[in-house]
Amino acid sequence: MRRSPFQNTSVTYHRAVFREADGLLYVNRFDRGGACRGWYYATGAALPPGVALASLEITTDEDSGDREVLVRFKFDSDTPAARERITRWARSVGHTRLWFADDYVDLTLLPAPAASVGRCHVCETTFREEGADFHEEVRRTGAHPWTCPVCGAAMAAWEVEDVGFDP
Ligand SMILES: [Zn+2]
Repeated sequence: MRRSPFQNTSVTYHRAVFREADGLLYVNRFDRGGACRGWYYATGAALPPGVALASLEITTDEDSGDREVLVRFKFDSDTPAARERITRWARSVGHTRLWFADDYVDLTLLPAPAASVGRCHVCETTFREEGADFHEEVRRTGAHPWTCPVCGAAMAAWEVEDVGFDP
């Protein structure tokens, strides 16, 4: 986490991976400076068709709690379906605004959903959370649980249901 000396903000870095075939989105914490930084790019690798990859830079205003997400697609993988799923994810975790290369989306804070559903694609456990406390925590931290409480694997972005609006 980087803290700006000029404003009361902090920045975190993530990667979003979207698979169009089944609509799965993973958002993984991906802080700069890891041992493998640049390795993937240096190999000249390409993404398989139907897979979108984006880096996300999330800036939090510590005073207001607003969170803005800067989305940068990699390898020309920007598609309407990927934008739509990333937008739905950002809304579900309470981010304030999304910036794409040529567009931005204001994410008005809506009533908490009736339930959030997460599925682990490794041990295949499904989690369904209805509590107001759970959704408050999701919005406060900007994330559903990152890892499966059963097996510890990274979890795909959760879906919200019965929201009473078009997510
Ligand atoms: Zn699991």
